[in-house]
Amino acid sequence: MSEGGTPTSGRRLAQLAEIPVGQLEKVKPRKAQALAEWGVTSVLDLLTTYPRRYIDRTRAADVADLAVGDEAVVFAEVRRVRANRNPRGRSRVEAVVADATGDLSLVFFNQPWREDQLTVGSQLLVWGKLTEYRGRRQMAHPVVDLVARVESGAAESRMLQIIPVYPASAKFGLTSWEIGTYVKEALARAGELADPLPVELRRRFKLRGRTAAMVAIHRPEVPSDPWPARDRLVFDELFRLQLILVLRRRALERAASAIRHAVSPAEASGGSGATLVERFVSTLPFALTGAQGRSLEHIFADMAGPLPMHRLLQGDVGSGKTVVAVATMLAAVQGGHQGALMAPTEVLADQHHLGVRALTSGLEVPDPGRLGGVRPLSVGLLTNKLAAKERARVVAGLASGDIDVVIGTHALLTEDVRFASLGAVVIDEQHRFGVEQRASLRAKGRVGSIDPDLLVMTATPIPRTAAMVVFGDLDMTVVDELPPGRASISTSWARGALEEAAAWERVRSEVVAGHRAYVICPLVEESERVAARSAVEEHARLSAGVLSGLDVGLLHGQMPGAQKAEVMERFRSGAIQVLVATTVIEVGVDVPEATVMVVEDAERFGIAQLHQLRGRVGRSSLSSWCFLLGEGGSEGAVQRLGALERTTDGFELAEVDLELRGEGTILGERQTGSSGLRLAKLRRDKEWILAAREAAERIVDADPGLANHPALLEEVRFILDEEDAAFLFKS
Ligand code: ADP
Ligand code: MG
Repeated sequence: MSEGGTPTSGRRLAQLAEIPVGQLEKVKPRKAQALAEWGVTSVLDLLTTYPRRYIDRTRAADVADLAVGDEAVVFAEVRRVRANRNPRGRSRVEAVVADATGDLSLVFFNQPWREDQLTVGSQLLVWGKLTEYRGRRQMAHPVVDLVARVESGAAESRMLQIIPVYPASAKFGLTSWEIGTYVKEALARAGELADPLPVELRRRFKLRGRTAAMVAIHRPEVPSDPWPARDRLVFDELFRLQLILVLRRRALERAASAIRHAVSPAEASGGSGATLVERFVSTLPFALTGAQGRSLEHIFADMAGPLPMHRLLQGDVGSGKTVVAVATMLAAVQGGHQGALMAPTEVLADQHHLGVRALTSGLEVPDPGRLGGVRPLSVGLLTNKLAAKERARVVAGLASGDIDVVIGTHALLTEDVRFASLGAVVIDEQHRFGVEQRASLRAKGRVGSIDPDLLVMTATPIPRTAAMVVFGDLDMTVVDELPPGRASISTSWARGALEEAAAWERVRSEVVAGHRAYVICPLVEESERVAARSAVEEHARLSAGVLSGLDVGLLHGQMPGAQKAEVMERFRSGAIQVLVATTVIEVGVDVPEATVMVVEDAERFGIAQLHQLRGRVGRSSLSSWCFLLGEGGSEGAVQRLGALERTTDGFELAEVDLELRGEGTILGERQTGSSGLRLAKLRRDKEWILAAREAAERIVDADPGLANHPALLEEVRFILDEEDAAFLFKS
């Protein structure tokens, strides 16, 4: 007997999703059309369109209490409306509004549509400043929230004390009040909703029933009503999502078995000599940090195990994830398999390719066909930019096994790319690949039911709980330590000409001291070509201006690979002292002598990108500087630049970023639609994420097919598409 097995009555989400909103009496065909354009087609869509905020009517000021000069909110009803034009043809609409205590006029110029908006009898929340004009109390151009609109005098008085404000958009011709009316009817007609949440969980987390929560969030009776309701509905969203992630995880484990990589030295070297991984580690010019060592322990344990690895590697900029990624691929290579690293852009793939080649130069792998029985480790590059002949060579090398490690873009996913034996896949994400793309690269390595091991890396950290939502089907390792001896980077936001001059002065003095500087060109969104052109211009301008007399080089994404490599080499050697670059240097570029970075128009970059850019300096024991140029512009930019000035901790910055930008960019496409998070906020609801995760794991572990939780099973199936569901629940 299971606690979740009690059959629940009431309407299920799937049923609500099948009722078109147009079936509600209050929704006239024209409005049904508007709702559809707004993305609301079913009763479920409607009920999960939650109020954005609430207005507590009891807290509005009385009209009679207002004194001239006061700014206030009043709740009032429209008594009369008059529109006219002054002699110069300017339109003027005046509405007299009143509450129980008195009246005042609202005046609008050049907004003739106000006459139609403010029909007599409509109830308004008005926010504005009280003035006096010819002895008459008025507000000119106040902010008006239409709470109840009355068509042709047929008053429907709403007795709600707490008025929900929906995110209704005037663009679609829908008011918050209309949405409220539809929701009211939908709630009344839906009646009792099915509640699939096991009673035990409801008790443990003190959650309301689903029906009560739905009613309270849409039609609260007292100001405190919405919050427990919100908790319940947030838990619903997160719990469904975590159930799916945990089920996916378990299904993958069932569906696949893994190559059991020989990672322990004795196994991998055939008992003699050092393993490839050991040789790699010993040729590094530094010792691994404790965090790198721990990460590799997790990874190697996964790789040696019977289940395919599914791991997320998080770490701050400069924490040394590349070394971990390379060691992972080499662990596969030493057992006779191949490793692949997929990057989101060509530029990043190029850079990783160069970086990995440099890190592995001198390594050899067994080759019985050759004299001496060994050959150099072979590292290939596969992007869409390759010439046909070169591409054919790489594709052939992957198929034959002559290439041990390949770095590429999604070009790796192309149909004709086959591997002799793909053992480990590393994905450098930047949140840009979807679950499907990850799955399809893994599928390339699938032989029968044997899957390659998968390691996903984030370029900049994301908060742990957010990762649990976005990457909830992966295990997680955090590289929580920077290599030793890093000096601090002092960051300042240069807001004016004087501070900017100081920044250029610092560039000069560092160059004189034998160090190097980066200047990052303004972000150009249009295309790499436009970005390149603007970089060329910026290079010319700076070389002739503030940087005259210095050796100033240029680097952008449109330059041929060989030329890029040459510029980097000259920068590294010091022949170029200042490098003017686009964001191509964002990832991977590694010149320890670089100690100053100037970012132009910094307000146009996001937090993660600035953090990533800044990570190009401060890579040695030399003190470093980062100057952010720009006026700030928006409130958001002020917050972003301020945060970068304050801290260099990527995890802390990730929190700020999440706070500022909301979930959108982190969640992306994946969480939209019916499985989406409409109420839950990654930052605010951290506790609920953890609770939902734990609850989902407990339920799935005890009941892998959810056979004892039919109502939950039904809901999960409803959210998943058929293919996914078939995969998750096939036995
Ligand atoms: P990220 O995690 O940002 O990808 P990288 O892998 O690019 O960081 O490493 C940053 C820099 O630190 C590189 O110059 C790399 O060679 C160096 N590095 C990596 N591991 C160590 C270590 N254990 N000790 C010293 N330097 C290291
Ligand atoms: Mg990196």
